[in-house]
Amino acid sequence: MITAQAVVYSQHGEPKDVLTTHTYEIDETKLESNQIVAKTLASPVNPSDINQIQGVYPSKPEKTTDLGTTEPLAPCGNEGLFQVLHVGSGVSDLQPGDWCVPRNVNFGTWRTHALGTAEDFFKIPNPEQSKANGKRNGLSINQGATLCVNPPTALLMLTHYVKLGPNDWFIQNGGNSAVGKYAIQVARILGFNSLSVIRDRPDLDKLKDQLTLLGATKVITEEENLSKEFGATIKDWTKDGEIKLALNCVGGKNATGIARKLAKNGIMLTYGGMSFQPVIIPTSLHIFKNITSAGFWVTELLSSNFDLKQKSFNQIIEWYEDGQLVDSPSIESSFDGSKPLHEVYQEAVLNSKNGKQLVVY
Ligand code: NDP
Repeated sequence: MITAQAVVYSQHGEPKDVLTTHTYEIDETKLESNQIVAKTLASPVNPSDINQIQGVYPSKPEKTTDLGTTEPLAPCGNEGLFQVLHVGSGVSDLQPGDWCVPRNVNFGTWRTHALGTAEDFFKIPNPEQSKANGKRNGLSINQGATLCVNPPTALLMLTHYVKLGPNDWFIQNGGNSAVGKYAIQVARILGFNSLSVIRDRPDLDKLKDQLTLLGATKVITEEENLSKEFGATIKDWTKDGEIKLALNCVGGKNATGIARKLAKNGIMLTYGGMSFQPVIIPTSLHIFKNITSAGFWVTELLSSNFDLKQKSFNQIIEWYEDGQLVDSPSIESSFDGSKPLHEVYQEAVLNSKNGKQLVVY
């Protein structure tokens, strides 16, 4: 019998107020033929996880009594890395020791163990399997645990809407966000140019150097993004090509600034709203430059397209394995049982302002 713990909530609210730990038993000797039991290796805290708990995110986990409670509870966490411990007699594509990630969002990844069917998971190579297949690198825990949201978001925004070639550019704000760092690298790998906007800070040059090392073509500050004078420098940088795509996760004036730099018929994809300000596109950009402003939501795009999901995951795994892509680092905390599981995640939520948090088991 495995004693499992999961972080759950019954009412929406701030994570510090509404999260609890539910402890339950999984009988690994009584699996149905298509079931598996997996232990969690790590799961991150993403902005969307927090918004789900607050009740302000459109996709939410169903409240369930499946964990053996009388009151329906919702499990927290959307992405995470699991290792298979036990499989039912009819499961052939997953074996004990394999690594896997949930096939769908809202699975509940802030937990020590998961009981599900084989269809609930995608198998991904564990480090021994990558090595046996002659790959240069095996996936790290962080790469596996953060595979499903940010890397495919960057990849799909850069490839699914506009075909960018060697002289083309994309512009993005939130250039040092996890998605932004993946976007910089994907552009480098696929051979087009990036212009990334970041917020000013005391160690600005250090951050610019880090992004340049990842392959950023140019990095500018929010002030430069909004400056008319600086526009001439950007025009000069991009004179041999066009800025065809803008990626916006900030909103407000920052978003208007990147939209202004788009070439005629350019498109801006809004995928986040970190400043909580609305997106305002000047009328002239619509009329005279035929700019399109559209939304991007990876959950929606991939929910009905498993082929695209599998293809995107495979591409990212291949880039990790051959060393072309590096993961955006997370700040790790460990669950060692010394405090309740939900308190570990509550602290991680609080610390999210310092960078992406990953709870490792
Ligand atoms: P991270 O936590 O890694 O980064 C957050 C970024 O937001 C940092 O670059 C930070 O800059 C910036 N930021 C925060 N507040 C502001 C502000 N007021 N003005 C300007 N910049 C700000 O985030 P992720 O990469 O995980 O996610 C980034 C965004 O993308 C989130 O909004 C997330 O919800 C969204 N997202 C959307 C997806 C979709 O499918 N639509 C999928 C994945 C992510 P600084 O370093 O200066 O603080």
